[in-house]
Amino acid sequence: MNTLARKATMEHTPAVAEPCAGLRSQVRQFAAEWRDAGRYTPRSDSWLRSFDLEFSKQLAARGLIAMTYPKEFGGAGRTHVERLAVTEELLRAGAPVAAHWIGDRQIGPAILRHGTRELQEEIVPRIASGDAVFCLGMSEPEAGSDLASVRTSAQTADGGWLVNGHKIWTTQAHRSTHAYLLARTASGERKHDGLTEFILDMDSEGVTVTPIVDLAGEHHFNEVRFENVFVPARRVLGEPGRGWRQVIEQLSFERGGAERALSSYPVLVELIAETARQRDDQELHAVLGGLIARLAVLRRLCFEVARAMDEGQAPVQQAAALKYLGNAFEHDVIEALRRTDLCQDPAFDSVFGQALLASPAFGLRGGAAEVLLSLIARQEART
Ligand SMILES: Cc1cc2nc3c(=O)[nH]c(=O)nc-3n(C[C@H](O)[C@H](O)[C@H](O)COP(=O)(O)OP(=O)(O)OC[C@H]3O[C@@H](n4cnc5c(N)ncnc54)[C@H](O)[C@@H]3O)c2cc1C
Repeated sequence: MNTLARKATMEHTPAVAEPCAGLRSQVRQFAAEWRDAGRYTPRSDSWLRSFDLEFSKQLAARGLIAMTYPKEFGGAGRTHVERLAVTEELLRAGAPVAAHWIGDRQIGPAILRHGTRELQEEIVPRIASGDAVFCLGMSEPEAGSDLASVRTSAQTADGGWLVNGHKIWTTQAHRSTHAYLLARTASGERKHDGLTEFILDMDSEGVTVTPIVDLAGEHHFNEVRFENVFVPARRVLGEPGRGWRQVIEQLSFERGGAERALSSYPVLVELIAETARQRDDQELHAVLGGLIARLAVLRRLCFEVARAMDEGQAPVQQAAALKYLGNAFEHDVIEALRRTDLCQDPAFDSVFGQALLASPAFGLRGGAAEVLLSLIARQEART
């Protein structure tokens, strides 16, 4: 990488670099060893698409997942700011982190916030060791943006609950050991009432997983059907009927991380290198300058979200703003690269093509752009 490219990459957009330098170099070295041994090829969107259970377990053994969880549950007892440094480096390396990403990012924290002691002891150490792989059963065919409209139901049964329903777009369900599930357990005055969160085993009788192949021909998400699936009472997360309030908090953990701005980082690196080669293309230099400035702002926002989490908050609006702005940034990186000659080069096709085909999902998954804007606007109206 040339000087301009080096200067413009992440360590020169100040966020959390200095205090976490040791952690950063540990992650870089570990990822580089795996990459150089041919055990993975860096790629965009690795947190959702690149699955390697052994990589996740090795990270766990080094205390690099479940970093913020208490030590008594197998965590490292570190801060969200430190976790941010690690996640930035993993995304930057395009490393295969999908096996632990969802469990580590939001299910462990949700169980630690709302779960019973029994549930915490059963599940959290297994996330921390990389043994429990989680998928998210939120969206349904008629309930995506309008999540409160979920129809999957859970009815009381002897010693637990019986779940019936249909989830869709369930990332990595085909490789997961456990699912987080949002289901209706009562009908209330408002559709937001009567929702309950559950943790269930994916090998339970009555669970059927069917693949959905995406635009690029890849299989990462699925449909999941539940037919009279028994979930023991101890697997309710939090208070029955109060699921809406809890899931909103959980979404701030889902939306408020570095993956909302860095999932196509390998493409940004290519853009920086190409801009350095095109010394006379002033317009391209100006575009890159704008993008790097935005990256610095986004990293600052990630840092603020992590700091709020360290203070025990679930920063719903800040996380929505980060996701909205991060998605726009990633879209603009890809568009900037599209106007260079580089994407005519067949050898380059895989890096660019892969990010391009993944990009329509950026502004949808984890909450559509318009929905995030209205969430932010509603909060503004209240203050
Ligand atoms: C790659 C990927 C992975 C995913 N993984 C998971 C997963 O693991 N688990 C899971 O539960 N879900 C997952 N999802 C689903 C995702 O969260 C939903 O796609 C998202 O919430 C949008 O819901 P929808 O697809 O039903 O779109 P819809 O709700 O039908 O929305 C479609 C469009 O309508 C517009 N719109 C909708 N509502 C409003 C509104 N109120 N105001 C203004 N405009 C509006 C927006 O333009 C929106 O983009 C994933 C999605 C993708 C793309």
